[in-house]
Amino acid sequence: MQRYTQTVWNDGESDGYEPLLSERSLETVEVPDAGLPDDLTRDELELPELSEPELARHYTRLSQMNYGIDSGPYPLGSCTMKYNPKFTEDVAALPSASVHPDRDAESVQGTLEIYHGLQDYLGRIGGMDAVTLQPPAGAAGEFTGILIAKAYHEANGEGDQRTEVIVPTSAHGTNFATAALGGYDVVELPETDDGRVDVEGLEAAVGDTTAALMLTNPNTLGLFERNIEEIATIIHDAGGLLYYDGANLNALLGRARPGDMGFDIMHYNVHKTFATPHGGGGPGAGPVGVTEELAEFLPSPQVRETNGEFELFEPERSIGKVHGAMGNWLVLLKAYAYIERLGGDGLRDASAKAVLNANYLASQIDLEVPFEPFHHEFVASAGERDAADFAKRMLDYGVHPPTTKWPENVSEALMTEPTEAESKSSLDQLAAAFNAVTADAASDLEAAPSETSASRIDQTSAARNPRLSWQQLDES
Ligand SMILES: *Cc1c(COP(=O)(O)O)cnc(C)c1O
Repeated sequence: MQRYTQTVWNDGESDGYEPLLSERSLETVEVPDAGLPDDLTRDELELPELSEPELARHYTRLSQMNYGIDSGPYPLGSCTMKYNPKFTEDVAALPSASVHPDRDAESVQGTLEIYHGLQDYLGRIGGMDAVTLQPPAGAAGEFTGILIAKAYHEANGEGDQRTEVIVPTSAHGTNFATAALGGYDVVELPETDDGRVDVEGLEAAVGDTTAALMLTNPNTLGLFERNIEEIATIIHDAGGLLYYDGANLNALLGRARPGDMGFDIMHYNVHKTFATPHGGGGPGAGPVGVTEELAEFLPSPQVRETNGEFELFEPERSIGKVHGAMGNWLVLLKAYAYIERLGGDGLRDASAKAVLNANYLASQIDLEVPFEPFHHEFVASAGERDAADFAKRMLDYGVHPPTTKWPENVSEALMTEPTEAESKSSLDQLAAAFNAVTADAASDLEAAPSETSASRIDQTSAARNPRLSWQQLDES
């Protein structure tokens, strides 16, 4: 089996971790006096004294102790860790791409043209009439969208009455958080046994208190909501809005549009679907699209074109700003370059391959996939095994594991999204890793991982109490 193994630091003392620069810098190097004036020099600054090769090796080793999409496949369902082409990085690194956010519109016409072009592309891809590029992440896009829904109901004099947002139980955690942060009561909607929205349950849940229904389609099981038109009618007849969580658009690109299904508001994650590397907390971008009726509530500024001139404007009843300047410009530039390079046919091809790859991979693994037909991702069950142990053991076979333990309607869920970017040989490598773990003894799973640079870490503390600098490490 092909297997990539992370670098392990081993000096017999430091317990597997690469020493900090300050720990390595044991000798004092004589640095020649730079001849700076006395009042500009300091003695108390403790800088590590290392040669350039030592420094370069330190950072190279750290990168090799990590695992990323440039090391091997990374089938993290819902999160879409796809390989992003390097040409988009080249575009973002062009000197002309560095634009100060406070420059006058007249002097940055090219930049505004790209913003305008991306607003247009995303609108056409999603079937939306107007798009804001400001929100810096998917969750921020959701929040923006729900604030727009709120502004709409308030403008209709129904702000006080519409207090509830309906969210299916299997939805991404941010949907619940968004609705709650927007000041709404969250109404959870359980799925039917076939893994889809329970239309009867929905009819019972909606009413004149409903502000919106937030939906993902294909949903987190990879299933297409076949009743989407009926669902849209139910929500609209009750006076509510239909929100589309488009974080992951990989199954729909160039084939189906949320706007055509009846959605009123959606967000896109350019860092999942449109070529921005993703992970480590950003930066990303979560543009939001809306129907014409809601365009006046979009955040400001928007970009418009009049007679070939691009200008910024504030929509009439704008909810205000949701991010500094115009959002994460370089991230948006990469998305623009990617869409421009692929074109309509390329995007269509990407969704075909995303779905084909997920179906091929699922057909090659020895685990049950309870819900079908799935599209760009599938949720396998680890069965009697603990999904988290299963995932840790996959690391020993040199691949990143899938998302685990979600959604909850599959027991010991392994939510897997290989993406369109993987070749048949890397899909086979992934399948081999799945099958090797399936054949392993329970004790191997519990002890895993042993082939990685770090064994089991305390994930809760790592997420909630991260120590991000050597000073913090020294303090602990
Ligand atoms: C990733 C994701 C989000 C949130 O996006 P962030 O950019 O991480 O804030 C929302 N919904 C779904 C379905 C997602 O997969």
